[in-house]
Amino acid sequence: METAIAKILWARSEQLGFRYTTVLSDGDSKTIDALNELSPYGETTPIIKEECINHVSKRMYKGLKLISRNAMAAARAEGKTRNPVSGQGKMTKARMKSWSSYYRKAIIENSESVDDMKSAIWAIFFHSMSDSNNPHHDRCSVAWCFFKQATEQGIDPEEFRARKKHDTPLSKEVAYYFIDLFKHLTNEELLKRCQKKTNTKR
Ligand SMILES: [Zn+2]
Repeated sequence: METAIAKILWARSEQLGFRYTTVLSDGDSKTIDALNELSPYGETTPIIKEECINHVSKRMYKGLKLISRNAMAAARAEGKTRNPVSGQGKMTKARMKSWSSYYRKAIIENSESVDDMKSAIWAIFFHSMSDSNNPHHDRCSVAWCFFKQATEQGIDPEEFRARKKHDTPLSKEVAYYFIDLFKHLTNEELLKRCQKKTNTKR
């Protein structure tokens, strides 16, 4: 929302008999900063910034893409021609898309609790780097995790994985490239802003 328009709307709101207590953010903090400077409802009632879920989930895709691009640039600088994180069995465009959609889902389906959101987001990471020797499915949900589904049905998980055509696991070396992105995307303040606020009534 354009800052100038927002300031007019907020300044007028009380005369019209209501308050806008939240702003849906598109990632730009200019509007929220200007509104809180204007402080239309007094210092005790700051305007709260809510993150748009669609915008936030794009951060996963953009972040993965950036990591892959930087890894390629670093490899080239060392005279190598292969991207160490991208390609078959590593990070692919399909995996970037699915991680972004799982990230969005983890936020929406756990909107009541930031801790549950965090756990569901880390599940994406640990599930993806799990293999039969090192399974890390504690945080996974039986709704989508082949390992939990196989265990429940008493089937060999690896056989089940092949049958269901699940992605091959990422090696630890590849997965580690993405840890910082997951740390960033599970930031509590960011996730809190993704929770649906109900305090919009006066
Ligand atoms: Zn799992």
